[in-house]
Amino acid sequence: MTAFNVRLTFHGNLAFFLKRKPAQLERCLTERTSVKDVIEACGVPHPEVDLILVNARPVDFSRVLESESSLEVFPIESEPVTSFTEHRLQTHKIAKFVADGHLGKLVRNLRLLGIDVNYDRDADDRMLVKVSSEEERALLTRDRRLLMHAGVRHGRYLRSQNPLEQTVEVLHRFNLASEVTPFTRCLLCNALLEPAEKKNIISQLEPLTKIYYDQFRRCPQCGQIYWSGSHFDKLQRRIETILSRAAVPIRQRSPVL
Ligand SMILES: [Zn+2]
Repeated sequence: MTAFNVRLTFHGNLAFFLKRKPAQLERCLTERTSVKDVIEACGVPHPEVDLILVNARPVDFSRVLESESSLEVFPIESEPVTSFTEHRLQTHKIAKFVADGHLGKLVRNLRLLGIDVNYDRDADDRMLVKVSSEEERALLTRDRRLLMHAGVRHGRYLRSQNPLEQTVEVLHRFNLASEVTPFTRCLLCNALLEPAEKKNIISQLEPLTKIYYDQFRRCPQCGQIYWSGSHFDKLQRRIETILSRAAVPIRQRSPVL
C-alpha cells in the first residue's frame, strides 16, 4: 500500500512521555496500523490515554489507520482538557492495585492508608500482567514497556522516583480520597487486620508492651501484631504528610489503635 502520514498531538501531562513541547509529531506509516500501536510507538503507554480523536471523531484503541489522519490524544486529568465527556477509555476510580518489584516503599505507604495492593518483590513481568488482568488490579510501575503490554487494562507509569510523591500520584489518578482508612491493613502482606484480645496474644508481646498497651490488631494471614506503640506517631506523621500533600481531608485518627 502507499505510505501515508499521521499527525499526532498529545495533550496535557502526556507531554511527559515525549519530553518535548509542543507535544506534536508526525509518523509515516507503510501498513495498516492500530491507533494503540501508533500511540505506543511514540512512547505513550495505552493505560495513560483516556480519549483519542481521529479526524475529530472519538475512537477506541483498536481503530485501524489506513490513510492520512490527524490524531488528538488526551490523558486522564482532573481538569477536563476537552469538551468530549463521552467515549472515555479509562476507569477513573480504581481501588485495587498490583505494584512491580521496585516499589516497596510506595506499597507500604498505600497499605498504611488502607489501600489494597498486591506486591511480590520477586514477581516477574508475566506474573504482574496476569495478576493485573485476572484480579482487575491497576498496575503501578516505572517500566513503560510493561505498561504497554496488551494484557494490561489499567495502570499508571509513576512520574516520580520519590515514594511520597508516587503515593500522591496514585491517590490523585485513581480518586482514592474516599478509600483512605489508615491502620486497617497489614503492611507486610496486605490482609485486613482484625481486633485481637490481649489475653490471646500476650505471649508474643515484649514486657513493656504488655504493661502499657491494651488494644491490639492482628493480621489473620501472617500473624503480625499492631498496636499504638512508639512507631505509631511516626506512621501517623507520615499519613498526615501524604494526605496534606494530596489535599485529602484528614479524617479522625484511627479508632482502632
Ligand atoms: Zn500480614
